[in-house]
Amino acid sequence: MPNDKNLKITFCSGAGTVTGANFLLEGNDKKFLIDCGLIQGEKLADDMNWDKFPYDASSIDILFVTHSHIDHIGRIPKLISEGFNGRIISTIPTEELTEIMLADTAHLLSRDIEHDLAAIYTEENIKKAMSLWETLEYGQKLNVDHGFQFSFKDAGHILGSGMLEIIYNNKKIVFTGDLGNSPSPLLPDTDVINDADYMIMESCYGDRNHEQREERKKKLEQVIKDNHKNRGTLIIPTFSLERTQELLYEINSLVENSVINIMPVFLDSPLSIKLTDIYLKYGKYFNETAKKIIASGDRLFIFPGLKETLDTEESKAILRVSPPKIIIAVSGMSNGGRILHHEKNYLSDKNNTILLTGYQSVGTLGRLIHDGAKKVHIMGEDVPLRAHLAIISGYSGHKDSDHLVKFVENTADTVKKVFVVMGEPKSSMFLAQKLNDLLGVNSYVPVAGESVIIEC
Ligand SMILES: [Zn+2]
Repeated sequence: MPNDKNLKITFCSGAGTVTGANFLLEGNDKKFLIDCGLIQGEKLADDMNWDKFPYDASSIDILFVTHSHIDHIGRIPKLISEGFNGRIISTIPTEELTEIMLADTAHLLSRDIEHDLAAIYTEENIKKAMSLWETLEYGQKLNVDHGFQFSFKDAGHILGSGMLEIIYNNKKIVFTGDLGNSPSPLLPDTDVINDADYMIMESCYGDRNHEQREERKKKLEQVIKDNHKNRGTLIIPTFSLERTQELLYEINSLVENSVINIMPVFLDSPLSIKLTDIYLKYGKYFNETAKKIIASGDRLFIFPGLKETLDTEESKAILRVSPPKIIIAVSGMSNGGRILHHEKNYLSDKNNTILLTGYQSVGTLGRLIHDGAKKVHIMGEDVPLRAHLAIISGYSGHKDSDHLVKFVENTADTVKKVFVVMGEPKSSMFLAQKLNDLLGVNSYVPVAGESVIIEC
């Protein structure tokens, strides 16, 4: 057990992989968790999610949640089932988005016949989790006995995303959660941190830079125009949270300013429709440009041609609508959801286009398409890939390699050590090397399960 001056951090999972964020911070008789995410890869939920946590869940005082992506919240019901009864703390939008995301994940996991879902997810567990929830505004400080102070800064990653700052013994420890690819169309830029002593940071794109960041809207415009000319169907597999709203926001602007023709745009995802409603409610967390557009009376995500298809029959009927048309559906990596039906229906036609706008994890159908497969297997059928493939990496929700370095540069004079996590190993290693070489910042890539002591 560490003495009063030292804190111990255990990288329970989310080290050496992008997903499954779950970090334990212990010291001075207190135990805090930062995030409790689902481990994902080829499957929505890896087998490892069913393993017992490497700590006694009932001994945890507080779980802090950086944001509502499932790889940061997806094992909260399991934490409850293992006896957690502490406080759960996040920003206000994160609480509301999490409740919807957990219910959706429970529904998806209920189809997993290999595992007993009830062991980790029950309706009661989700209800109990929400009953333990408390919220903080950005910048609002929470003092916890034994000398800890916590607050969130804006990470600019998705609505409500926060970096957790912890002050203990006059030292500042920062858990970045995921860091937004600022400037974002919708959100304010990532807050600057210039006084951290220790940082635990993400590295999803630690070894790559995004192309076309500045031209992403122009490229989207071109893809839509080309598809219109081909009289094709443009299918966009997307993540329901943030990416969907960003795309709707951009298409809204293209339509409302008559840059593109009005055509049917289907938002074919009940989850995305629900989440978009929450985005409409929390406009006060958007950036100044988006706030101005709202003030002018435009409903950001709603434009002529847009059709929200809630039920399955409406979704099936999309096939009968003549092109040109656009279909936005989940999941973003094509590893489940309604997008699979559309991929099966449209990928073999050379007049159609599939547009990828996000990270495609190794082992997913999205990754195969991204890497140029000629044929893919979808729901029991071989589908030749003849549709155009368009990729706009600039829509990524994560900072790229150069911007991760810039983010750390602000605090290079104060930071004693950066722990690089939440990335594939080569990505984390590359970033750590860059931080060492370019900034002279002591950086380290822990492995899953490893514990470190930090001096405070
Ligand atoms: Zn995230």
